[in-house]
Amino acid sequence: MTDYVGRFAPSPSGPLHFGSLMAALGSYFQAKSQQGHWLVRIEDLDPPREQPGAAESILRTLENYQLGWDGDVVYQSQRHELYQAQIDHWLTTGEAYYCQCTRKQIKAMGGFYSGHCRALQLADPHHCSVRLHIEQPVTEFIDLKHGNIPLPKALAEEDFIIKRRDGLYAYNLAVVLDDIDQGVTEVVRGADLIEPTGRQMSLYHQLKQPVVRYLHLPLALDENGNKLSKQNHAPAIDALDTKSTLLKAMQCLGFAIEPSLKDGTIEEIVQWGVRHWSLLQLPESTEITPRFSNGSV
Ligand code: GLU
Ligand code: ZN
Repeated sequence: MTDYVGRFAPSPSGPLHFGSLMAALGSYFQAKSQQGHWLVRIEDLDPPREQPGAAESILRTLENYQLGWDGDVVYQSQRHELYQAQIDHWLTTGEAYYCQCTRKQIKAMGGFYSGHCRALQLADPHHCSVRLHIEQPVTEFIDLKHGNIPLPKALAEEDFIIKRRDGLYAYNLAVVLDDIDQGVTEVVRGADLIEPTGRQMSLYHQLKQPVVRYLHLPLALDENGNKLSKQNHAPAIDALDTKSTLLKAMQCLGFAIEPSLKDGTIEEIVQWGVRHWSLLQLPESTEITPRFSNGSV
């Protein structure tokens, strides 16, 4: 194996759907075509949005698709100490601070938080969020497929939340601390996560850590242009035929599927994918609408 470390980091808000299968496959192919490690991390940070049994169901589905991960599965719900220790450190140095602004107040600031509480030195953590003082806003980044991607300036400059008022840790913080802790070298994920990339890069800068490389895969949309997700009633893929779903997802990732592949086992098809994976064949578009033979997505 090489020192490439990639990962798939699903949130257990429901069973795996077609869009997350594409992300799983893309990150697996990108890692395994470079003889790298491929980790799986369950991002169970937000219990109200989770579904009981979803994490197990996702792992079972990955196994059905012969996507074997390296090492143990990591659960964010078991890593609160890591997140809190970093927040406490930043509170001590003054890099992070408590904020009591409400959604309504932020709306009145024009939709972006203005830095209102930065100088207030609020000491009471109750009913407060924690924000990070952004010293190095990131307004663009290089994506391995799409090249330079500009990001909205107001978003980049905002002192964003690293711990929510309700006590939950923010996705951006957990993802970066975990990727650093797990030695991840490259993040491959859906294009819906292009926008938070700037904030995540700010965290690497704040932590004085080298930033990972980023690759964003096309996002699967339904005919109405909505993201395929549980909220939009996308079918859980374990209800679909494994082989045809796999081939469809690979086609969406740009593979030219040879007809004879349909006779292979799931494992053979995945291994063929590892051998034939290339960023050049990956669609230029950040959105794609898969068509299934039964007409549904
Ligand atoms: N947990 C996030 C999601 O399912 C993905 C995080 C990431 O890949 O950076 O949308
Ligand atoms: Zn505030």
